[in-house]
Amino acid sequence: MRETDWTPSEDEIEWTRTNLEPLEVGGVWAPHGLEYERIGDTSLRLISIENHEGTREAHARVCKVLDALEWTVDDDSVERITNQPSNDSLADQHRAEMERIQSIVSGWTCPNEECGTHLTEFNLELCEWTNHGDHEFLNPDTGETGSAERWLAHIQCPNCDTEVPMNPLDYGYLAGEDLFYTWRISDTECLRVLTREGTVELIDSGKIGIALGSRIRDMDIPPHMQGTYCVLEKLDEEE
Ligand SMILES: [Zn+2]
Repeated sequence: MRETDWTPSEDEIEWTRTNLEPLEVGGVWAPHGLEYERIGDTSLRLISIENHEGTREAHARVCKVLDALEWTVDDDSVERITNQPSNDSLADQHRAEMERIQSIVSGWTCPNEECGTHLTEFNLELCEWTNHGDHEFLNPDTGETGSAERWLAHIQCPNCDTEVPMNPLDYGYLAGEDLFYTWRISDTECLRVLTREGTVELIDSGKIGIALGSRIRDMDIPPHMQGTYCVLEKLDEEE
């Protein structure tokens, strides 16, 4: 499609590897407004791309990373080239999108080949967030690079104990919004993000929550939790 001068870092390559390895043949990987289907052991097919300069650059970069991993991409027969959606159809598209995501997520399995437990069967509440430092990223809307912390959400297979590091958004798709916005800060406590309505209710009832910055109790706070208003909750002892 096009060439790019960009060169991927080792981390970038590793990150892609951790995204691709759990994917089964027929499974879909969807980074940066792109969708790829795994069609073989080391091959992908581009099935959908947004009609957007930033997205085309993102695809060129994905191709470079895959080249480094010695994977191949077939981008000759793209099924869908999408444009920015109109406001009218956003709600419908959101619903369709959620259904599509659910069907993708239900195909994810434990990376241990002899195990194959579906990730949806993992205890998704037991998620450990780790910060892997600043990395360059491509903003698909502007086509420009910026810098952001890279985080991974680690979950563990209940059958073979394999630890599965996930890209935060994928974890969010898998676990759903409620779990995504509930962060375990110790074995006995979690911080749960309040909605705007929940915040108003709490304050009106005379209680006070916790507004999050970037650090708490000597821990880095995962990006999706930063700038939110939370309540501290005790976890059930039985768990
Ligand atoms: Zn397993």
